[in-house]
Amino acid sequence: MAVLEHLTSQQAIDLENKYGAHNYHPLPVVLSKGEGVYVWDVEGKKYYDFLSAYSAVNQGHCHPRITNALVEQSSILTLTSRAFHNNVLGQYEKYITDLFGFDKVLPMNTGVEGGETAIKLCRKWAYKVKGIEENKAKILFAENNFWGRTLAAVSSSTDPSAYKDYGPYLPGFEIVKYNDLEALEKALEDPNVAGFMVEPIQGEAGVMVPDEGYLKKAFELCKKKNVLFIADEVQTGISRTGKLYCCQHEGFRPDILILGKALSGGVFPVSAILADDEVMLTIKPGEHGSTFGGNPLACKVAMAALEVAVDEGLAENAEYLGTIFREELGQFARENELVTLVRGKGLLNAVVINDTEDSDTAWNICMKLRDNGLLAKPTHGNIIRFAPPLVMNETQLRDCISIIKNTIKEFS
Ligand code: PLP
Repeated sequence: MAVLEHLTSQQAIDLENKYGAHNYHPLPVVLSKGEGVYVWDVEGKKYYDFLSAYSAVNQGHCHPRITNALVEQSSILTLTSRAFHNNVLGQYEKYITDLFGFDKVLPMNTGVEGGETAIKLCRKWAYKVKGIEENKAKILFAENNFWGRTLAAVSSSTDPSAYKDYGPYLPGFEIVKYNDLEALEKALEDPNVAGFMVEPIQGEAGVMVPDEGYLKKAFELCKKKNVLFIADEVQTGISRTGKLYCCQHEGFRPDILILGKALSGGVFPVSAILADDEVMLTIKPGEHGSTFGGNPLACKVAMAALEVAVDEGLAENAEYLGTIFREELGQFARENELVTLVRGKGLLNAVVINDTEDSDTAWNICMKLRDNGLLAKPTHGNIIRFAPPLVMNETQLRDCISIIKNTIKEFS
């Protein structure tokens, strides 16, 4: 079938509605091009992208170093499966483990597969090393977690729209309150607890930033009980919050680190988990894998994506611009009734609107932001996440802050 070049927005939306499953509710804008911090719709209107595909496009749209890596490798060798070695995988493994400071990496594809892999590895470690009786291992998850859509992920979810009507659910998961050390300490008293999996900042829950010191203390509590601390940094990793990965803000290294999204700069799904030998080597040949995980194309793309993050100082830029964003919008929130507060770290931020969770105010503001040339998406009826590509410069950020303020003023 020939793909039409010149579809109107309405035609594209109608096609999706008629032929695609209705499992998403996108903002009505049809994008056909992206470059750096900008995207264009099919009618040629230009927007600032303030979602970055849920923090997958940290390096900016179509970063030439990453797309060049993709194009070059795509005509040399794309996939061998892990039935054979390839000449790129080992080099990538060395690069990423050196960069993040772990003994080993296990490459996968999507973020949720990273989470699944981390849980399987944690359970394996529980039986092989910690000595938990077979099939008794428990993993703790934080309330309002989000780590994807598989049955394991929805089995640990506390959000009915994620888990309802998908039962029966996977056993062995328990929920503890987020940002609550007492609750964690109590849950850790159970000797069958093998791991605690947590997002350092809860993205989908509405950019919930825990109290300073919570993560480090939670890590120490886990250490005391010989429990693995599993950091889900699929959204917060790769410079988004102002460090290469978010746990670094509190100066500790988790037992298992899950990365995804921006690990490929948004080019295609690439994820990975990192751990040291004592944990990682509990999984033996044939006990876990993926046809596509570790393919040479993904390895080249991921290396380029990580190099861009490091060489272009994206973490430092996120830290610098994030501070400006929160200062400016924090001041605006104090003066404007419609905005309750702004919170976040680096360039992962949220503006909380003074309305109920089930209101459509945040959606309506996002529609107006779209009209005014900036794309963002609510995480709840009253929370808008603002997460632009990290290659943004200060002039662009200040321009965006004006758009956001003026748009919200239209509603006040
Ligand atoms: N973990 C976190 C923290 C996420 O935010 C997401 C996706 O939004 C995932 C895991 C799942 O990633 P994916 O959609 O690539 O499976």
